[in-house]
Amino acid sequence: MNAPKKHIIVISPIGDLDAEVLGRIEKEVNRIFGYETEIHPLLKNVEFALDLNRDQYHSTPILQKLAGIAPPQALKVLAIANVDLFIPILTHVYGEAQLGGQACIVSTHRLKEGLSPAGNPEGFRYRLVKEAVHELGHTFKLRHCKDPACLMHYCRTVRDVDRKSSEFCRYCMVMLGDEINRPAET
Ligand SMILES: [Zn+2]
Ligand SMILES: [Zn+2]
Repeated sequence: MNAPKKHIIVISPIGDLDAEVLGRIEKEVNRIFGYETEIHPLLKNVEFALDLNRDQYHSTPILQKLAGIAPPQALKVLAIANVDLFIPILTHVYGEAQLGGQACIVSTHRLKEGLSPAGNPEGFRYRLVKEAVHELGHTFKLRHCKDPACLMHYCRTVRDVDRKSSEFCRYCMVMLGDEINRPAET
């Protein structure tokens, strides 16, 4: 077997991002999932995903692109964008993930609602970190959770994001542990 072991979670900023928040996301991903992280800006921009009619960016092709260019050591890729993302059935999304797959993305764009990142950087970072961990959770096969305090709870508004904790509930933790300890498919 010559294939390098996939053992890193790659964090991939797209465009300008606050270095502080990147560090925060790395720390939290490391704490919750137990994998090392590396920062690799894999995409300069996501103009290929722009929908001219909606003036928003379709997240699904971005995920496909990221999975195609992920470095060999990447178990997962978490992209962080600052543009407005959508999937066709919804007006917007905070992020999207390949369920049980390799790539996910989260956007800062809508998470600024109701607060200014300059005026309340902590509130903004807290939201972004939660939604980043939520999307990564999907790549580890976690689905939405009914518990409004659980990180895997589906949030329609930033108020929902603010309301949930920064932890998975016990049920989701067990599911995550099973998935992480599962022998790799060959
Ligand atoms: Zn979700
Ligand atoms: Zn849960």
